[in-house]
Amino acid sequence: MKDPIGGTSRVGSRGRNLEDLRRQNLSTVLSLVHANRSMTRADLTHATGLNRSTVATIVTELESLDLVTVSQPVDTKRVGRPSTVIGPSPRHIAVAVHPDKDAISIGVVAMGGRVLREFRFDVERAPTAVHVVNTLQALVRGLELSEGGTVLGVGIGVPGLVGARDGVVRVAPHLDWHDEPLVQMVAKATGLPTWAANDATCAVVAEGQFGEGIDEDNVVYLNGGAGGIGGGVIVGGQLLSGENGYSGELGHMLVNSDGGLCHCGAVGCLETEVNRDDLLSVVGLGDAESSLLEQRLREAYGEEPAVTALVDRQLDFLGIALRNIVNIFNPGVIVLGGFLGAVRNATGDRLLDSVERAALAGPSSEVRIVSSTLDENVLIGAGELVFRTILRDPTSASVGSPTSAREPEQVAAS
Ligand SMILES: [Zn+2]
Repeated sequence: MKDPIGGTSRVGSRGRNLEDLRRQNLSTVLSLVHANRSMTRADLTHATGLNRSTVATIVTELESLDLVTVSQPVDTKRVGRPSTVIGPSPRHIAVAVHPDKDAISIGVVAMGGRVLREFRFDVERAPTAVHVVNTLQALVRGLELSEGGTVLGVGIGVPGLVGARDGVVRVAPHLDWHDEPLVQMVAKATGLPTWAANDATCAVVAEGQFGEGIDEDNVVYLNGGAGGIGGGVIVGGQLLSGENGYSGELGHMLVNSDGGLCHCGAVGCLETEVNRDDLLSVVGLGDAESSLLEQRLREAYGEEPAVTALVDRQLDFLGIALRNIVNIFNPGVIVLGGFLGAVRNATGDRLLDSVERAALAGPSSEVRIVSSTLDENVLIGAGELVFRTILRDPTSASVGSPTSAREPEQVAAS
């Protein structure tokens, strides 16, 4: 029979089945350790339903692949033998990138969603794709020299539409990017496997894995940033991608048919009616002071009429969007990031009350609407794009550093 995978494997069907089972078990255990950040061997035995000696064998193999660390627990005062603690190894790392109109953020991310190091390069003007690639190329070379670990690949969270099949950024309006073959450019420049997705998509992946969406199968993330409002959706535990990877553009939901003209060409989109710049302006803050927005809104909302009127207007439109989200997706949790989280926190229960009143009773009865508490969720989610491969097949780590596989090439400066 023709081998559908190809290559030199000559394993018989029983061998193949055992080999598949071994990989599956490695994947299951590594995924659990990754998602939980650390687990005792007893907890792994319980969670997998495998017997103790099988779990011990799997853990030993993952340790030999440098994918987990094994440490003895401190005295737990529990009856019985103390169980060893398994954690994700920091030796396999992902380089995560988030280009935005005011900065290029790059993180060194380890399994378990840990950002080991973060670099922020402030920019005067929105960076070009070539600018991002060259910044990344210089940094990756430095990392390979300084970190000593294995760089598995590059994950990029882009504030725009990213093709799921080709990694081409169709449009990133606030960066003024059009049809940029970003994944191809980065892979060529760094010699590393590269993935890209919308930045809010990255964020919802991180929220689902490590943030407010843990233990939820239906999660919606809505981020309010400098450039607009992005969204990401997890349905039934699966990321909603759409036909081409473009789904989740919740910022372009119609909330006001008499509203302003959006850069997308439509009228009254959520991101034209609810925006950070108007909020900063009404409370007297500049662009660079957005971290003070929540505090200023807490002081001024309900006290200063101009602030209260603007915030109430934005809350009404945000409430319409959330009502639609609740009715359409029936999420367990809606996570608000960026300035949307600040507005929610500074205005008591007003937003929650309006959604509860307006949405259908069924889906609105269970939904939590919370602010994100996961810092760097875009970088963590971009790292997840990279870790997917090794979580699916941990034995792929044994091939060695992919950085050595291909010689990086220079990308011409613009
Ligand atoms: Zn729009």
